[in-house]
Amino acid sequence: MTLDLASKVRDVPDFPKEGILFKDVMPLIADPEYFAESIRQLAEWSRPREPDLVLGAEARGFIFGGALAYELGAGFVPARKPGKLPWETIEATYDLEYGTDSLQIHRDAIGAGARVIVLDDVLATGGTARAKCELVEQLGGNVVGVVFLIELTFLNGRERLDGYDVHSLIKY
Ligand code: AMP
Repeated sequence: MTLDLASKVRDVPDFPKEGILFKDVMPLIADPEYFAESIRQLAEWSRPREPDLVLGAEARGFIFGGALAYELGAGFVPARKPGKLPWETIEATYDLEYGTDSLQIHRDAIGAGARVIVLDDVLATGGTARAKCELVEQLGGNVVGVVFLIELTFLNGRERLDGYDVHSLIKY
């Protein structure tokens, strides 16, 4: 029997602000069977793309990304908010509803030609995933897939990721 992953995603209305229906994956990662199944499915799609690395951003991207990288026998690259990484960094900036935000990775995190899976828990507008792809490409890496646990299809995030190979496990 396949597990219904969506049954372990909790809807939290008006978080972090009014009008946002937040998809809370904490119940899913707290359940050993559902967490393992989500990683298994992410790996099943990612493995044929033969990644060397998985890139994920804090904080939920570390949880799924670390487990996925381990499952694939790949390395993991953390993308972080400015000022968090200890060594020399490169940066990509993306739009928020009000203003902009940035993500950084270490300058030597990705070698030229490295095959990289970009991961996040939720695809909403696609802005942050796009910024992660830009980080990979700034260092000469090759984005071989962009994978999400959850896709909010009504926000058309895939349009921002035009040209990339995009996959999600749960669609709303
Ligand atoms: P995006 O709009 O695709 O750039 O998404 C911004 C970030 O916020 C992503 O890392 C998502 O994981 C997170 N996010 C956006 N919308 C939601 C939501 N409704 N529930 C949970 N996380 C979200």
